[in-house]
Amino acid sequence: MPPRVNRAKCDGCLSQSETFCVLICPGDLMALNPDSGKAYCRSERDCWDCMSCVKSCPHGAIETRLPYQLGYYPARLIPLVGSNKISWTVMDIHGNVERFTFKTRNDD
Ligand code: SF4
Ligand code: SF4
Repeated sequence: MPPRVNRAKCDGCLSQSETFCVLICPGDLMALNPDSGKAYCRSERDCWDCMSCVKSCPHGAIETRLPYQLGYYPARLIPLVGSNKISWTVMDIHGNVERFTFKTRNDD
């Protein structure tokens, strides 16, 4: 399912000319609304759920809704990428929340 931008968390990457989510989308689907300064997906039917934009946001403002076959609303996945780890917040259909953190880089 296409990404959902939490407008309360999105700060438009502080008005950079190209934001993290806009820069990283391989389909050129993410854009910044010039009026609100918030990001959005301008063609949801063309999104193939690669989650690059979701992982790129420094504020965790983009989330992925799971399709109903996997969880249905309000099930969702929200990643937060660190320098050497990624944390995933997983919410199930009952609102139960679990968090998982994985190491993504060896610092040795
Ligand atoms: S999930 Fe991938 S294809 Fe879809 S809008 Fe985000 S970066 Fe683009
Ligand atoms: S990367 Fe996050 S904060 Fe920046 S414009 Fe996209 S959704 Fe908003």
